[in-house]
Amino acid sequence: MTEEDQNEKPLDFIRTKVKEDQESGKNESRVHTRFPPEPNGYLHLGHAKSICLNFGIAKEFGGLCNLRLDDTNPVAEKTEYAEAIKEDVKWLGFDWEDRFFHASDYFGQLFDWAIKLIRDGKAFVCDLSFEEMRELRGNLTEPGKESPFRERSVEENLELFEKMKAGEFPEGSKTLRAKIDMSSPNINLRDPVIYRILHQEHPKTGDEWKIYPSYDFAHGQSDSIEGITHSLCTLEFEHHRPLYDWFCENLGIHHPQQIEFARLNMTYVVMSKRKMLRLVEKGYVDGWDDPRMATLQGMRRRGFTPESIREFAERVGLAKRENMIEVELLEHCLRTDLNKRAPRRLGVLRPLKVVIENYPEGKSEGLEAVNNPENPDEGTRQVSFSREIFIDRNDFMEDPPKKYFRLAPGSEVRLKYAYYVTCREVIKDEDGEVCELVCSYDPESRGGDSPDGRKVRGTIQWVDAATAVQAEVRLYDRLFSNPTPEQAEDGSDFTDHLNPDSLIKIKDALVEQAASLLSPGEPFQLERIGYFCADPDSTTEKRVILNRSVALRDSWAKTSK
Ligand code: ATP
Ligand code: MG
Repeated sequence: MTEEDQNEKPLDFIRTKVKEDQESGKNESRVHTRFPPEPNGYLHLGHAKSICLNFGIAKEFGGLCNLRLDDTNPVAEKTEYAEAIKEDVKWLGFDWEDRFFHASDYFGQLFDWAIKLIRDGKAFVCDLSFEEMRELRGNLTEPGKESPFRERSVEENLELFEKMKAGEFPEGSKTLRAKIDMSSPNINLRDPVIYRILHQEHPKTGDEWKIYPSYDFAHGQSDSIEGITHSLCTLEFEHHRPLYDWFCENLGIHHPQQIEFARLNMTYVVMSKRKMLRLVEKGYVDGWDDPRMATLQGMRRRGFTPESIREFAERVGLAKRENMIEVELLEHCLRTDLNKRAPRRLGVLRPLKVVIENYPEGKSEGLEAVNNPENPDEGTRQVSFSREIFIDRNDFMEDPPKKYFRLAPGSEVRLKYAYYVTCREVIKDEDGEVCELVCSYDPESRGGDSPDGRKVRGTIQWVDAATAVQAEVRLYDRLFSNPTPEQAEDGSDFTDHLNPDSLIKIKDALVEQAASLLSPGEPFQLERIGYFCADPDSTTEKRVILNRSVALRDSWAKTSK
């Protein structure tokens, strides 16, 4: 970290501790972090916060950050998830170099450590079922009761554990438990299970193992094996820390410093893989990469940029207590990023035909349009204009109220980059619906400039009928209509709060050609409508499908100023 950076911003509590450790020479002043997801679902925005934190700290302090999959539960884990995790971390802009690991890489070592605990009289094979164990565990106010199998001899334990490993016992019939303290006020220390029998293929180790370490027995030791100096994790692991400490001390191995921070929670989304899986499985969304999901795959498809997510993670900062971040901040970060880089294009969502009666038939011309007013380097492009154009239905009113500055019978507006036009005639179909407008234009107003100082208050967008491209536009709104769907007072389920209008598909929008040629991931702005990008379905279905990433109006910037 440069001195300048340090002067700019006070350090958060994690960086303060890391800096202290580095300056005091702890761990030979090394800083080594890791991002340790379980490959049992796709990464979401909460994970992004953790990724930015872990990789960010490593970079700032001249250290390293590993990517490790904590794959101790073969029942829920899949290679599909593992692949997506790697893709997402890269997409966010981080690099683990040659440090990609699996907790399963350490199964052999973990097994040896379990044997050591047994030999030292600190672990025992228990025949209680999970149900019976739960009954004896006690609760926050009552101490637990010791298992009747707790005093088995070392020899018997070794023999039974080897047989568990050899697959000689059915699933659930035995476990290996650490022998700690059944009356500890911390329930995690009441003889926790460290190995269970699972006759299950593992995505990495195949059918090599019939027993698998518990997450708690694998996580801390994996950090230790990798020489992690600071194990950053979310608050729910605070009460596991004494257990991880116990393992490191009793095994006599390197002891990482665990530091907890509050999970990221955000309004209008659910931020848990388990709940997201339910949304996918029940068909409430179109998959993990549905643009309404707070998964990184969904957000990418929607048009979020890695820069905007990194900026969001930074602005959210770190807290020691649970809190709720407003989704408007995320949208603000996206708008700010796209405002700088997204080229402007013209399009109309609900086309209304306009014939310019005094424009020569058969004529067509190119008009100069600014690509990005925020960035003059992006220059201009030519948009074609001819006698027939389309405007948006929302920009016309037959009976306008006072102070309506868009198009109405007899009124004049500016067509952006083009001309002043005046509405002369309204044509209706047999149902009485307005289906066409006849307008006249002022040839002297080319480029949208006033010819004689005459002012118009309204400027609207348009597309040329001869060259516009038909597009399906997908307008997304929040997936839930309740800002905190998981905390409803009435005890309802989060799925009771789905927003029925979270996706509106407009099949026959029209956009200028330049907006139809971009590939997924290339953002652009449709003027006055929002920021967009092509959906990957465009490629497979060979038609133009556009996702609106975010509308233009920034309620967050307004309310927070
Ligand atoms: P979920 O509850 O969605 O299943 P998890 O915590 O089980 O998430 P892991 O794969 O175990 O997911 O998490 C990998 C890392 O990401 C952990 O260090 C975890 O603390 C962190 N993490 C997960 N969710 C969040 C969140 N909402 N905010 C910040 N960090 C998170
Ligand atoms: Mg988990």
